[in-house]
Amino acid sequence: MGAGALAALRHAAPWSGVLCLNYHRIGSGAESVFDRGLWSADEESFDAQVRFLCSHFDVVAPPDLDGILKRRRGRHVLITFDDGYRDNYTAAFPILKSHGAVATFFVATGFIDDPALPWWDEIAWMVRTSTKGGLPASRWLAGPVPFDDPDREAAVRTCLRAFKSMPAADHAEYLEHLAGATGSGRCPDGPGATLWMTWEMLREMRSAGMTIGGHTVNHPVLARLPQPAQRDEIVACGRRLAEELGEPMRYFSYPVGGLDAFDAGTRACLRDTGVHYAFSYYGGYRTFDDWDDMDVRRIAIESELKRRALRAIATLPWLFGRSRRLRRTRDTT
Ligand SMILES: [Zn+2]
Repeated sequence: MGAGALAALRHAAPWSGVLCLNYHRIGSGAESVFDRGLWSADEESFDAQVRFLCSHFDVVAPPDLDGILKRRRGRHVLITFDDGYRDNYTAAFPILKSHGAVATFFVATGFIDDPALPWWDEIAWMVRTSTKGGLPASRWLAGPVPFDDPDREAAVRTCLRAFKSMPAADHAEYLEHLAGATGSGRCPDGPGATLWMTWEMLREMRSAGMTIGGHTVNHPVLARLPQPAQRDEIVACGRRLAEELGEPMRYFSYPVGGLDAFDAGTRACLRDTGVHYAFSYYGGYRTFDDWDDMDVRRIAIESELKRRALRAIATLPWLFGRSRRLRRTRDTT
């Protein structure tokens, strides 16, 4: 669609409501040995995206939602980040500040407290640093997984998908299996130590007007846990945020965030814990008529997104529901 057509549509078919965009990492992941699916935009693209959003929309933060939902008019955009990667502070934060824009950062407190490589980055590392030609079929891999593309992206995706489809009880054994079968061993601690933001960084961002929210402690898919374990993840996350930031956890995003990643028990627990708004991750946006405090929908931003595509999302957000691309991104984290 051309820029002129989009501009015409913006006037002809205006939406009203709350459009939330979600990012993970800012920078270039093209050469990374870790999970490249996590990079949402490089610095130049992110800068252009924030400039566009600030000039066309009301870029707001979760504390603004109470008033927005009372007034029930206008087009509002929330910029959000999940997980707590350090480039959110080193790369995204300066760009946001330069535009006077606010954003929300949902952090898994376990990554901040005990920095280590998460399973998705470690699996990518094991595959990419392997000197083998591929992986044999196994209890977890239905067929052989060749390392035949130059960047091994397909093999990484296959190994990540296998992790997500097995019971949580098998995860540790699967990682050990991959360590042996790739010949890479387990990733040493080094890269994990500087991968995440620190509490000091988060406090500085909050002082500059950013919002910090919860994303559990250990990043599990909450709906797959028994109710007491869900509660432990949510309550402990809220407790660490309160201890470090001096304010209760009012905003939360569901790890993975698909419709099946949270359930009625998750919602009830979040309400009991004092969370005002919880954010999902399966695409789409919310109008004032279909608003749901515990399922504020978000659209994934991906690194290959072209400038015009962001204009399309912001102009016609209802088209960006559960597309194939969004499902793939959602599957990543
Ligand atoms: Zn996440």
